[in-house]
Amino acid sequence: LAEKKVLIVYAHQSAGSFSAAAKEAAVEVLKSKDCSVEVSDLYAMKFKATATAEDITGEVKNSEHFRYAEETKLAWDEGRLSADITEEQRKLQEADLIIFQFPMYWFTVPAILKGWFDRVLTLGFAYTKEKRYSNGIFKKTKALLSFTTGSQETMFSPTGINGDMNVTLWPLQNGILHYCGFQVLAPQIFWAPEDATPEGRSAMLAAWSTRLVWVWEVSHLCLWTAHIHSRN
Ligand SMILES: Cc1cc2nc3c(=O)[nH]c(=O)nc-3n(C[C@H](O)[C@H](O)[C@H](O)COP(=O)(O)OP(=O)(O)OC[C@H]3O[C@@H](n4cnc5c(N)ncnc54)[C@H](O)[C@@H]3O)c2cc1C
Repeated sequence: LAEKKVLIVYAHQSAGSFSAAAKEAAVEVLKSKDCSVEVSDLYAMKFKATATAEDITGEVKNSEHFRYAEETKLAWDEGRLSADITEEQRKLQEADLIIFQFPMYWFTVPAILKGWFDRVLTLGFAYTKEKRYSNGIFKKTKALLSFTTGSQETMFSPTGINGDMNVTLWPLQNGILHYCGFQVLAPQIFWAPEDATPEGRSAMLAAWSTRLVWVWEVSHLCLWTAHIHSRN
């Protein structure tokens, strides 16, 4: 196997968090499998979350009616996107697998990670009208949402008070990742680590490490769509 490259986009404020432990476990196991691993630690980077004209170096085309997608497309063509966006795009382009590690906030990702999606996945670079979904630009790249919750699993079942987790994840997995072509692997969900026993938390981390040992070999069996269909 050629060396695989993994990008972990990590969004937690605290190095003592369970999310940090999940990120560290991934780094360790993937490196032991001879993968090269890069981590974008968004809070440590103070990653800018808002999509604004400051993301473009030099003149914008229409400052009176600034349109983010069109302006960033032009800037990307001309190599005038801001340095932080360009750097994340380089990491993403080189990756065979991208893992997003975050605590669920309001049924979705924390704002800083939403900002990463808004600012890094620009028109032209990550998608066009012709290149999306199964014809998408990142169709050779695997993507995986790995996240912690405050809720127990039963609360996110189809009959639970929060409703079906697969529905909750549709905007992220379909609207963002699959839209850009990514092969979306089944999500890794760490249910309510705050309420788990120390043994329970260790077991969750061990299961994650084991999954990652086999992530290249069996990923075709772990596609998110297969996961949804198996539940229906
Ligand atoms: C704004 C906001 C919105 C939210 N919205 C939602 C929502 O929509 N749905 C929902 O379900 N939840 C929601 N939550 C809750 C949130 O998702 C959880 O609090 C979070 O996911 C818990 O993960 P953590 O990494 O922060 O855990 P932590 O609190 O950091 O960790 C949990 C426990 O794990 C321990 N731990 C740390 N490292 C290790 C290790 N190496 N081994 C074993 N144990 C370890 C910690 O000491 C701690 O006791 C929300 C929270 C906020 C702040």
